[in-house]
Amino acid sequence: MDKKTIDLRSDTVTKPTPEMREAMARAEVGDDVYGEDPTVNRLEALGAEMVGKEAALFVPTGTMGNQVSIMAWTNRGDEIILESAAHIYMYEAGGPAVLSQVQVRPVDGHHGAMDPGEVKAAIRGANIHFPRTALICMENTHNRSGGCVLPLDNMQAIYDLASQEGIAVHLDGARVFNAAASLGVNVKQITRYADSVQFCLSKGLCAPVGSLVAGPKPFIDRARKCRKILGGGMRQAGILAAAGIVALEKMVQRLSEDHERAQKLARGLAGIPGLDIDMSTVQSNMVVVGTRGTGMDEFAFAALMKPHGVLFNPSLPYKVRMVTHNGVSSGDVDEAVRRIREVIAV
Ligand SMILES: *Cc1c(COP(=O)(O)O)cnc(C)c1O
Repeated sequence: MDKKTIDLRSDTVTKPTPEMREAMARAEVGDDVYGEDPTVNRLEALGAEMVGKEAALFVPTGTMGNQVSIMAWTNRGDEIILESAAHIYMYEAGGPAVLSQVQVRPVDGHHGAMDPGEVKAAIRGANIHFPRTALICMENTHNRSGGCVLPLDNMQAIYDLASQEGIAVHLDGARVFNAAASLGVNVKQITRYADSVQFCLSKGLCAPVGSLVAGPKPFIDRARKCRKILGGGMRQAGILAAAGIVALEKMVQRLSEDHERAQKLARGLAGIPGLDIDMSTVQSNMVVVGTRGTGMDEFAFAALMKPHGVLFNPSLPYKVRMVTHNGVSSGDVDEAVRRIREVIAV
């Protein structure tokens, strides 16, 4: 008998829901480069409205969303400030250097949150030797810290000081709806502390493809041109946007279930000798599990559980990351804990 595979590698493994498949099949489409795809236009208007911005742009990936935002806010030779474990810095293949030809200035954070004083100190003054500080990026939830949520007062402090200096703020909000669910606030209470925001439809929200960039109209006009430069001007993209609309209308409300399951998973694993979990960092749909007490490193532990049908990714030294999502039921969480307990019990 084959055991069900419980895939905790990422919320990117989610598949489109039956409702998305139907919406995709029925979608009215047109040439979006001509601005004539009614479904893309509807998705962009809906996304902009939800995050409280003037306009939005549909892009194929979160990475492209971040990169067109950087391109649209900066000029060659500018500097951008970001947190030193930010996705834009760690996982976008040097995009800011390659595409926008900007220099990155990393500032260390605590669970993804930069200290406003350190951000202020990193802003360049007027001196012929210095690059111009053109942009400050924040990330919420913060991926590499295991889905930690930036405190709103931290975001506000950084946004206020950026505004005073006339510097734009971009939010990498790949999982900003998870942040909103975790804080129990409307997502606008988060996005108000950024001039532009990128958010993924393809992660916990289950759309097959796509992200939105939202911000002021003149910024979105520039970002649209940057998307074209990158080859991201898609034609009858309404097929994809239709799933995105279902993602925003139907899938946002259920993210708190993923968070409850992450809590349950964390509590279950914390009871297994050798595994170590800092419950204070379990804030959204991710659980970072320390493996040192088992004598296994992150690769050995992930490889050990794979044949037992529990999949997760190595993240940091002696740490693996498990992510809950629409494909992981409450029963699956119990079953994953049971299998892990059974396999590593001595
Ligand atoms: C996933 C992710 C992205 C990039 O999204 P892709 O669609 O995979 O390109 C950007 N930022 C953060 C924080 C992410 O988690």
